[in-house]
Amino acid sequence: MSKCARANHSPATRCRVAFVLFAGLSLVGFTVVARRRGYSGMGGNTVVRCRDGHMFTTIWIPGISFKSLRLGWWRLQYCPVGKHWSIVVPVKVTDLSEEEREAAARERDIRLP
Ligand SMILES: [Zn+2]
Repeated sequence: MSKCARANHSPATRCRVAFVLFAGLSLVGFTVVARRRGYSGMGGNTVVRCRDGHMFTTIWIPGISFKSLRLGWWRLQYCPVGKHWSIVVPVKVTDLSEEEREAAARERDIRLP
């Protein structure tokens, strides 16, 4: 018999609560790990690079996005630098030069995740 079926609450409710808790913790864990790896601002303002090499700052909240199509680590998003849609990926700010960081900080897209 499964753990859920033995619970006092209805099995479906119990399983759903467990799943939501698990999903929430995974998200927090992912954000913490990403920050430790040098992706500053993960879960907030993050520097991303489009396929044409343009860099800009966007709000990147793992798992949540209203303005772009999520493809795992990649996102399909509007690039405000080249004014086109492109696959964008987070950039490690520790890998950037001072000028690159400043340029990326100047380019910000709309304030929506
Ligand atoms: Zn671009």
